[in-house]
Amino acid sequence: MEHHYGSLYWPTTWHKHEAYAPLRQNLRKEVAIIGGGMSGSICAHTLLEAGLSVVMLERDEISGGSTSANTGLLQYANDIMLHELGEQIGTKDAVAFYSSCRMAVHQLRELASRLPKEVEFVDRSSFYYASTNEDVAKLQREYEMLKAHDFDVEYWSETKIREQFPFSKPAALVMHGDAEVNPYRFVRTIADDCVRQGMEVYEQTEVVTHKSEAGIHTLTTADGYTIEADHVIYAIGYEPEELRGQLIKADINRSYAAVTAPQPSLEAWHGRYMIWETQRPYLYMRTTEDGRIVVGGLDEEQAEPLADDDARHKRIDKLEKSIRSMFPMLDQPVEFEWSAAFGESRDNLPFIGKDPAWDGVYYCLGYGGNGTVYSMLAAGIIRDLIQGQDPHPVARIVRLDRPSLAEV
Ligand SMILES: Cc1cc2nc3c(=O)[nH]c(=O)nc-3n(C[C@H](O)[C@H](O)[C@H](O)COP(=O)(O)OP(=O)(O)OC[C@H]3O[C@@H](n4cnc5c(N)ncnc54)[C@H](O)[C@@H]3O)c2cc1C
Repeated sequence: MEHHYGSLYWPTTWHKHEAYAPLRQNLRKEVAIIGGGMSGSICAHTLLEAGLSVVMLERDEISGGSTSANTGLLQYANDIMLHELGEQIGTKDAVAFYSSCRMAVHQLRELASRLPKEVEFVDRSSFYYASTNEDVAKLQREYEMLKAHDFDVEYWSETKIREQFPFSKPAALVMHGDAEVNPYRFVRTIADDCVRQGMEVYEQTEVVTHKSEAGIHTLTTADGYTIEADHVIYAIGYEPEELRGQLIKADINRSYAAVTAPQPSLEAWHGRYMIWETQRPYLYMRTTEDGRIVVGGLDEEQAEPLADDDARHKRIDKLEKSIRSMFPMLDQPVEFEWSAAFGESRDNLPFIGKDPAWDGVYYCLGYGGNGTVYSMLAAGIIRDLIQGQDPHPVARIVRLDRPSLAEV
């Protein structure tokens, strides 16, 4: 499956990264991670710090999959609002899940600060606006629920929005404690840091078979080498073909994103907030360190990203117009644009945890707009499972055999 078509922005920000050789020997490790994207790398770093011997195997390049198409917003609020999630799984669990996502944003912040290179991690607040007047009541309800559970959130009226921004919206929530990152730099730097600490990382190394006997897992690569491991983690993004319909109830859609040339001034953009909305699929925007605007959205129910340049450019024109309609003064043109596959779980929760029928096998599949936050959450959950510690507070909520999946 192709992950994306078009011209990606993030890989252009960092050409001088390490390349890792393919696996050319047999190995024995405690943990083998399949996939070198956001999920695999964060898991690897977390397990390495917990003292485990780990190898990461990537079919193509580290950070080359969905991770390089990612727009780098790190938000604790999910595609499903807290009060709606409460209706789905109960308020207590919904609050526990949102709190864990907030903690995961903080853990990402800490991880970024410990890395040896700058990864453009910046604390930012999010601006979540009501797309229509009908959504105002929903936003008010969400505000009350977030406030009641100690989330740092403000409610902005239409008047306040007009005072702070060059556009008008019926209402908005301003959520504090979020952040943005350059996802490509982040993941490559995490992988480099793992290697610096003695971990083995192999690129151009595809795992083609997985068998187990007497508690030992044996992976075979396309080049015929084997990796024996006590634990295997699947961090393979949106490609778990053999699991879909069994353990994974997900829809693979396609999404679009664009990045403008640097704008001479972003003064009109209050707090450089990360902007998104209540409508589904939603439009979202952020800025970059060098003053570009990243805009994304227009999701469509098609599994393959859009390869046709003309058809894709029509969607990108719409994204560009959305920027102009909110910030007419920010008129630098789009320089990079792409269409990418985007996986969403049917109950709006990620797939994290053990294979219910195969000991020593784990999944780290962060489907949804908060994939990076889920990757961080997954790393902690899987570490605890491997080390036999008390289960993480939300492990039950995101596990692959959870009840909420039976109903979708
Ligand atoms: C347009 C777009 C915007 C997004 N924006 C955001 C955002 O703002 N914030 C956010 O948090 N998330 C966002 N996401 C989601 C985010 O990109 C994903 O959740 C995250 O990057 C997925 O990381 P991953 O490691 O799970 O998957 P991937 O990055 O796809 O990595 C999986 C890796 O596994 C490898 N692999 C697969 N099979 C094998 C095999 N058999 N052997 C070896 N290797 C294998 C693949 O080559 C791939 O590199 C966005 C996604 C898209 C498409």
